[in-house]
Amino acid sequence: MKALVWHGKEDIRYDTVSDPEIEDDRDAIIKVTSCAICGSDLHLFHNFIPAMLPGDIMGHEMMGEVVEVGKGVNGHLKKGERIVVPFTIWCGDCEQCRRGNYSVCETTNRKKDLADKVFGHGTAGLFGYTHLTGGYPGGQAEYLRVPYADTTHVKVPDGLSDEQVLFLGDILPTGWQGAVQCDIQPTDTVAIWGCGPVGQMAIRSAVLLGAKQVVAIDRLPERLSMAEAGGAITINFETESVVDRLNELTDNKGPEKCIDAVGLESHVSWSQPDTIYDRAKQMMLLESDRPHVLREMIYVCRPAGIISIPGVYSGLVDKIPMGIAMNKGLTFRMGQTHVNRWTDDLLHRIEEGQIDPSFVITHTVPLEKGPEMYKVFRDKQDSCVKVVLKP
Ligand code: NAD
Ligand code: ZN
Ligand code: ZN
Repeated sequence: MKALVWHGKEDIRYDTVSDPEIEDDRDAIIKVTSCAICGSDLHLFHNFIPAMLPGDIMGHEMMGEVVEVGKGVNGHLKKGERIVVPFTIWCGDCEQCRRGNYSVCETTNRKKDLADKVFGHGTAGLFGYTHLTGGYPGGQAEYLRVPYADTTHVKVPDGLSDEQVLFLGDILPTGWQGAVQCDIQPTDTVAIWGCGPVGQMAIRSAVLLGAKQVVAIDRLPERLSMAEAGGAITINFETESVVDRLNELTDNKGPEKCIDAVGLESHVSWSQPDTIYDRAKQMMLLESDRPHVLREMIYVCRPAGIISIPGVYSGLVDKIPMGIAMNKGLTFRMGQTHVNRWTDDLLHRIEEGQIDPSFVITHTVPLEKGPEMYKVFRDKQDSCVKVVLKP
C-alpha cells in the first residue's frame, strides 16, 4: 500500500510499504477514506519529539471502512462499518481506562519499558507518534491496523460525511478537553493562545460551554478571522501587546482561564525576545521547547485561575516563573486528549448541528500530495489552516 513515511527531519515521503495485517485477536484493519495533518505532526516533521525512526508511518487523525476484524473484536465491529479512529489507543480494562483516563492507558503502549524509563511511568499507545508511545504505524496511509479495535473506535452514524466526523479522532475533543479543563463559569473570560485547528475547536468549545468572553490570540489574519467568526475577540500578537489587551478586556484583572493551543513551537520573533533565547538554547540542545506562551499565561492569568495546556510540550523548558504561578495560586491542567471520554457527547452535538468541525478545512488533496502539504501547512501558505488527505 501507499503511505506517508518519516525519513528524518523535514523529510516525509509517499512510499510503498507492506499492507497491515491482523496481528492480535483484538485488531481490525480499516481502509482509510480520510485522514488529516495535525499540528502535532509538525513537531515530528521538525524532529522535536524524540524516538521517531526512519520508516515510521505518519498520521493519527483518520477514519475509514472496516475491512477485516480479529476474533477478539467480538461483534463490536463488523466489516463494512465506518469508524473514526481516536489517536489514543485504549484497552478499556486497565485502572486508568476504567477512570476514563484513556491517553494514559496502562496496557496499549507496547514499548512501555522505554516509556517508563523516560517518563517515570509510561503513557498510552498512540498512532503514528514515536516509539515512546508504542511506535504504532499511523493512518496517513491506504490501510491502518487498529489495535484494541473493540474499544478504540467511534462508529459513524449514517448520513454524516467524513468531513463532519473526521476530527472526532483528535482536534475536536482536544479543543473540547482544553475548554472543559477550565471549569468555565458564565462570568469567565477565556483566553486562547493559537488559532490553529486546535485553537479553533477550543474557541467553539468555550463559547458552547458558556464563557462570558472568549479572546483568541495569533498573528495570521485568516486564522484570526476564523476565530472571530467563531465568536472570539481577537488579538494579533505581532501588532499589539497581548498582556495589555487582555488586561483591558478584563477590567485589569486578567482572564480567569487561559488555554495554550500553541505548544512547544511558539513563533520566534524579536518582539518577543524570550523566543530568541529559547531558539538559541534549542539549537545548542540546552532546551527542547519554546515555552513563551506558558510564561505569558502565568503572568497575565487572574490569581486563582486555571491554565489549560492542550498544546504539546516535548521535554525540558527553561525560565518558567514558578514563583508567580505558586503565589497566584494557579491550577495547571494538561495532557494528551482522552479522546473517547468526549466523543459520544461531541457526536450528538454534531448530529444536532451545534457544531460542524468541517469549517476548519481549507485544503483537501490526494494522499500522494502529503509531502508537499506538510510544508504548505507548516508555512501557512495559501491561507492553509487544515489539510485533509484522501488515500
Ligand atoms: P498549528 O501549528 O496549526 O497552530 C499553532 C498556532 O499557534 C499557529 O496558528 C501559530 O501562528 C500560533 N502561534 C505561534 N506562536 C504563538 C504565540 N506566541 N501566541 C499565540 N499564537 C501563537 O497547530 P494545531 O494543529 O492547532 O495544534 C496546536 C497544538 O496542539 C500543537 O502543539 C499540537 O501538537 C497540539 N495538539 C495536542 C493534542 C493533545 O492531545 N493534547 C492534540 C492535537 C494537537
Ligand atoms: Zn494531533
Ligand atoms: Zn487501558
